[in-house]
Amino acid sequence: MKKYCINCGKAIDNKHNSHNLKEEHSFDYCSSCNTSNSYEDLDKIEDHEFNQKVHNNIIKANDMKNNSLCFIVGGFILLIIGIFFFVLSFKRNVIGIRVFSPMCFEFFIAIIALALSAVGLIYGFIRFLSAYNKKKYFKTLLRKIK
Ligand SMILES: [Zn+2]
Repeated sequence: MKKYCINCGKAIDNKHNSHNLKEEHSFDYCSSCNTSNSYEDLDKIEDHEFNQKVHNNIIKANDMKNNSLCFIVGGFILLIIGIFFFVLSFKRNVIGIRVFSPMCFEFFIAIIALALSAVGLIYGFIRFLSAYNKKKYFKTLLRKIK
């Protein structure tokens, strides 16, 4: 499972760390904020602090998950708007047959809505996965330190 720093929330890259650090600490050391993530040899106060930090990270990951869902919902709404305007860009010609007219304003709006929808959906999905993994990691960590 991917590891995350309890202090800054960034993913801990073990490969990158092992070059400049002693072996026994390399797995718990965050190179982004230069702090240790080790929960061994902690006294009671430090242990409590560690616990709190993990809890805060779970809350943050939860917020991030909700935020990503907003992007996904927004993406879906734009997708529907895009499809609606795409349908509208089929206009009746002089003999009353609907023909696709790519130069019309409706098609222009459809393209913009669909493009924004794709961005929202992809970004939301990536963010959702990242938040989900983070939450899972910190929940596992919380169970381990108890
Ligand atoms: Zn960090």
